This record gives sequence, C-alpha cells and structure tokens, in this order.
Amino acid sequence: MRVTLLGSGSSQGVPEVGCGCAVCRSDHPRNKRTRASLLVETQGKNLLVDTAPDLRQQALREGFTKVDAVLYTHDHADHTAGLDDLRAFNVQADAAIPIYGNKVTLDILEQRYAYAFLPRPERAWYRPCVVPHVLPDEPVFGFTAAGVAVTAFEQVHGRIKTFGYRIDNFAYSTDVDVLPEAAFEALAGVDTWIVDCLRYSESYTHSNLERTLGWIARVRPRMAILTHMAHDFDYVRLSSELPAGVVAGYDGIIAQL
Ligand SMILES: [Zn+2]
Ligand SMILES: [Zn+2]
Ligand SMILES: [Zn+2]
Repeated sequence: MRVTLLGSGSSQGVPEVGCGCAVCRSDHPRNKRTRASLLVETQGKNLLVDTAPDLRQQALREGFTKVDAVLYTHDHADHTAGLDDLRAFNVQADAAIPIYGNKVTLDILEQRYAYAFLPRPERAWYRPCVVPHVLPDEPVFGFTAAGVAVTAFEQVHGRIKTFGYRIDNFAYSTDVDVLPEAAFEALAGVDTWIVDCLRYSESYTHSNLERTLGWIARVRPRMAILTHMAHDFDYVRLSSELPAGVVAGYDGIIAQL
C-alpha cells in the first residue's frame, strides 16, 4: 500500500491570498500547501479521500489518472469543492465513480452538484458522474469501497462530525478537535497515522500541536504525519520541534506500508 498526502494545507491553503507573513512569503517548497486530500493506492485500486479545490493540480503533480472510489470525510468546501474535477477520472475509466460519505455529507453534495448525481451521460463525458453510497452515522464500522476493506470512525469537528478512515494499518484523521474513545479503539495498533494539526494555538474545530502530540503519544503509531496545517507553521521550524516518529507533512509526502 502506498499513501500520498496530496494536500497538507488548511482551508485557505498556504500561502494565503493577501497574507504577507514570513511563511506565506517563504520560498521553501514545503511551505506551499494545497487543500487537504489523500490518495491511497492498494490492491490495484486508487481510493481518493475528499475532492479538494486543488484536485486537478494535485493529480497533475502526482501523475495519477485513476480514481476507483472517493471517501468523503465531511462536506466542508476545502474537502469537496473539487468534485467537478472528477470528470477527468470519469473520462479515463469511462465509468461513473462511487463516492462514500454519511447522509448529511452526500445530501449537501447533491444539492451543490446535482448535475453530477444524474445518470451517466450517454455519449461524451461533458460532466462528472458519481454514484452515492451512504455510510451510517455510527461510531465505528467497516465497509468496502472498490473492493478494499475500510474502517470508518466518527470524529468531532466543532459542531459537526467527520469520518476518520483506517485501511489496514494506515489511518487518516483530518478536521477533528475531539477524538471519541471509539476512535482511539479504531486506531489501536496503527502503523502510520496522518493527523490534523492546524496551528500552535487552540481552535474550536481543529487540533493544535500540543493536543495532536498528546493523541500521538496515546495511539503510538510507528510514524505520525501532521496535516491540515495553516501558515502559522514554518516547515523547517516545526520539523525541529517534533519528537522522534512525528513528521511535519507536506504536499507529496509518501508513506509506504
Ligand atoms: Zn478542512
Ligand atoms: Zn501567512
Ligand atoms: Zn472541515
């Protein structure tokens, strides 16, 4: 299994439009962060987690042309606004793309992108086409997407819930400020964990560095990778502040499991 962090940035990305801070002005390539998304390649299948507004650039940068299924964490625009770009993968596969999320998420996506939920076009792919699969609102459960076994676990993200996903011994937890006990149980024994870490200071909807490091100390993965990072974090400085086994994520970082 190979996991590529497609986007490691917060909702505005880094640099932020109009911001003159040192990180936003930095030339360091690892201080350039597109919006949060992930590609999991396993068993010959490509699972995409979320369709960030930067999906097209992420696909061109990493050179992937196949998406067998999309797992949505939640409906926020920084995780979904690239849905229209799925059209390119419809073209490549000449097939509709199955998407997974809870009912709230899929209902909102159908409101925003109703045209993508219609039956597949008869001739040319002049629009994207997705087939929704509703996941239950349960603390922890398993399902299969494109034949790959996935465990979903609920996380608290301010006033809404998000799904964390575990595939074999890899897990992804973005957009979370409180991890319920059931989520910790679902994370037990994980090898590599990519986890939310917005900034140094606290947030009502995300984790911060101190909280995320506390979670990592409890879950004890072999490797933890921080993601959904805002312009508060300079890659070089943050990297020097992290304990062994924890790394600052960046766009394009790959975990091989
Ligand atoms: Zn987000
Ligand atoms: Zn900035
Ligand atoms: Zn969010």
